[in-house]
Formats: sequence, C-alpha cells, structure tokens
Amino acid sequence: VNLSPRHLARACAFALAASLALAALAQPPQSLNAAQRQAIQRDFAAAFAAKDWDRAEELVLRWAESRPDDWMPMWNLAAVLANQQKFDLAAGAIQRALDLGWTDFRLIDLGLPRELESSAVIRRVRRDWRALQDAALERRFQQIREDFAGRYTLTRDPDTRTAIISAFPPDQTDAARRELARVRAWWIDNVLPADEPVARVEGDTPDPWIIIILPTQADYRRWTGEHLTLRASRSSVVAGVYDPERFELLTQDRGPTLRHEYLHALHWRHLKRLNHSPPPWILEGLATLVEDFRLNPEGRLVPSVGDRTASVARLARSGQVMPLQRLIDLPLDTFNASAALNNYALAQSLFLYLHARGQLRAFYAHYTQHYAADPSGRASLEAVLGEPLDKIDRDLRAWVLRQRP
Ligand SMILES: [Zn+2]
Repeated sequence: VNLSPRHLARACAFALAASLALAALAQPPQSLNAAQRQAIQRDFAAAFAAKDWDRAEELVLRWAESRPDDWMPMWNLAAVLANQQKFDLAAGAIQRALDLGWTDFRLIDLGLPRELESSAVIRRVRRDWRALQDAALERRFQQIREDFAGRYTLTRDPDTRTAIISAFPPDQTDAARRELARVRAWWIDNVLPADEPVARVEGDTPDPWIIIILPTQADYRRWTGEHLTLRASRSSVVAGVYDPERFELLTQDRGPTLRHEYLHALHWRHLKRLNHSPPPWILEGLATLVEDFRLNPEGRLVPSVGDRTASVARLARSGQVMPLQRLIDLPLDTFNASAALNNYALAQSLFLYLHARGQLRAFYAHYTQHYAADPSGRASLEAVLGEPLDKIDRDLRAWVLRQRP
C-alpha cells in the first residue's frame, strides 16, 4: 500500500503540499470520519484553485482541527494566508508545520512570495536545513518510544539518509538493513537514471531521512487499528504502508512488504525532485517487482514470477483480465478498493513483462521525460515496446500464461 498524494493544482506562486489521495489511509480517529475528511480536503482544493481564499481558509482550518498532529494542513494554511497577504500569520503556520515534523523542505524551492522568503522561519530552514531534519528524526524516535510498547532502537545510515527504528534485536535489524541494501542496489541498477543520486547526502540541502519503522506485531496491530480507515482495516491485508509526506515506512514483515514499501520510498525520493505524481499502476507496478525475486550468482536481486503472476494467469484462462487501458486509468481510491489484489497483480505482471523485454529502465526514463505530455504513462509504454496498447495487452496475457511460478 502506498499513501500516494496528488499534488494540487498550483494556483498561485505558492506550492501546496500534497493532500487529496493521502486521505485514503493513515488517518487517526478524530471526530470526523474518513469520508468527511476527504470531502473537506477536496473542497479545500477546489476553493484554492478558485482563489476563494476565505472559503479555503475555513476549510483548511477544519482539516487542521481533524489532524492536529499533521504538518500538511498547516503548510496549506500558510499558502492560503500568503495569498491573502497575511505574511506574518503565514510564517507562523510554517513554523507550526516545522514543529509538527515537516522535513520536505524542497517545497520552499517551488516558489515562495518574497515576503515569506525573508521571514525568520524560512531563513532558519535554509540555514539549518540538515540540522532541522536530524532533529525531526530524533523527535520521531522519541515519539515512537513513548507511543509504542516495544523497546525500540534507532540506527542511522547517513550515506543513504535511511534510518531504522526497530523493535528487534541487532541481528534481525541488520538483516533488514541488508534487505534494504538489496532493494537499493536493484533500484540503482535497473531503474534510476544514471545521473540521479539515490540519496542527496552532501551539500546544504540533503534529502530528508527515510524512516523505516519495524514494530512488534502488537504495536503494528494497534497502529493500523488507530490509523487506517475502516475500509482498509476491514480488508485486513494492509501489511505495510509508506507515507511519502512523512518519508515514513511501517511494515509488519521484514521481507516482501519491507522491500515493496522501501521501493516506494526510493521512488518517491526521485518523484519529489521531479515534482511528479504518477498513477497507481506505475507506483505499484514498480513496488511489487521487488516482492518476488531470486538471487543471481553475484547475489543481486532479480524479480521473478510469483503468486501475483499466477493469479493473473488464472484470470487470463477465463478471459477475465482487465484491459490495460482500464488499469492505466484507475485512480488511487479505485485501485485500492475491492479488486485491489487483481490490480496489484496485473500491474506487477506488466512491469515484469517490461523487465523481461529489457525495457524497464527505458520505460522509466521515457515516462519521466514525457510526464507533462502524458502523465498516464500509456504513450511511454507504447513508445518503448514499439507497439499499440491493444497489441501489448494481447502479448502480455500470452506471456503471463507461459510463465511458471
Ligand atoms: Zn504499494
């Protein structure tokens, strides 16, 4: 599962933090239910786009009330206030976002009004960027120690800006670290463009820490009970989550789910540099690729067919595989709804197919370069495979039927 945000339309010279689709998951139980909160965020986005600042302010304040520990409504409140020329209040809202754990400082480079650029809080973020990120990680660790029942340790890997907050003994935490290193190597070797660093570590503006939380089963169950919405918790298959706004990953296993969610984390790091927000078939197709694998003679991870492929093959035999155009068009809330497993399986098969055809890196490069022209990804699929979508559809189904998990 991935808490993918949709970036709101940038209506003015102040980038909003992402918000809409995030509401699908990871919401603490407040007086509003998840559907009400989603409605407020959607109405806020509409009011913001229409530059109805009074209405936008009222809505974002309600959003903030329902999410008192969340930095995102505070940042968006700052955007509204700045558009009303209330710069001191806007700076105050940004300070509040900082206190609540905002570390995605890249947002300030997407365009701030001059009056805010010179505010004390923004000057402090620019000056103490790294120290503020380090302090936020430390605070998060203390919070976990207070909120969770297990005994947790913090391990930092400064070379990749990855931190592990673990309830497990050192040898098991180390095993998880090796798992992360494998996923990272695969991402670099197979997808990430050669000129992109997997983590910006040096310099004055490093990437935020990715925080990997490895909780006890009991803490995990309690956390999902409190934070996941009814629909997600009823389905009882949420094995892990990655929140790209908090750069935070929580998983109940240290195998397939850890790899899946960490791939999301690495992918989002690149997406945030690009300011892209791809559809779920691409997000989940990439993440599911590292779930099932074999090791090659050099000890490197090679994606392989598994249960998800087998389930697509079963559907293919009875002619029930969804056409690719429909998969491509699925918005996040539908993607994660009742037929979620089928959607994940088909996305994985498509990406396995791209990988088998040797076109995975080419697809990723083409897609990121042509994102503005076609955010759906269909044109990139057709371009790198050199075929129209209906042909890819047929070839993919035939390929799936030939695989032996
Ligand atoms: Zn996912």
